[in-house]
Amino acid sequence: MSKKILYDEMSWLEVKEAVKEERVPLIPVGSTEQHGPHLPTKTDIFLAYEICKAATNKIPDKSLVMPPVNYGYNEHHLDFPATIHISYETLIKFVIDIGKSLAHHGFKRIVIVNGHGSNTAPMELAARRITLETSAICASLTYLSIAPEVFQLLEGEEAHGGDVETSMMLYLSPQSVNMSKAVRDWDFPKSKFITFGVEPKGKSFAVAGGNVQFVDWWSRVSKTGIIGDPTKANKERGKRMFEIFVDKLAEFIEEFRKREIRPRKDYH
Ligand SMILES: [Zn+2]
Repeated sequence: MSKKILYDEMSWLEVKEAVKEERVPLIPVGSTEQHGPHLPTKTDIFLAYEICKAATNKIPDKSLVMPPVNYGYNEHHLDFPATIHISYETLIKFVIDIGKSLAHHGFKRIVIVNGHGSNTAPMELAARRITLETSAICASLTYLSIAPEVFQLLEGEEAHGGDVETSMMLYLSPQSVNMSKAVRDWDFPKSKFITFGVEPKGKSFAVAGGNVQFVDWWSRVSKTGIIGDPTKANKERGKRMFEIFVDKLAEFIEEFRKREIRPRKDYH
């Protein structure tokens, strides 16, 4: 039998074994929110979860995947029907409790894999508190930020429901995409400092929004719920994008799993 990669498929004996093997639990976090008229509300969590599973399948001795956190911090999307908003305080506490439980059982290195841009700051705080309040170390990442090379493949813009997300959904969940409803929506106030989203051959998501942080009500910057151009999306590029994210995540897990955890020392 091949190795189980999903935590919720394992018995407690198997989890105990996974601790011994120093496997790295991945906590997928996403959202249930509007993604334009052409994509389903599952998009963020579905993609984060698929990337976690595929990365773990490459290195099944080294990581495992926790049940996904399907909701996220997205009050700014509430002008569009469908979005379920979780306050950032609740979300942070919820994910910290997952991390603390994992640390309690003996896992030493934990990674939060986020699929929703606005969870980035709350998940950074959750990871920090897990590190400071347990014997484990915890890192967080938003998958869109770990592989800037993906943006070299862009043919249309991406911030939300654009070329990247739509292309990967066409590859992974084509039955839930309605391309007849896909439209380009890229009409928000442009700024030299507030960089937001990414244009073809443009800068990475890590830079986008990374200089000056500002997120407005979505209904002020989008008429369709989309910010990007999903009309250029296609399945083949979606497959290539997905594989790049998966390879990058697996590479990071392998490195983080070997990261030395040094003893603390009180210098008073
Ligand atoms: Zn999204």
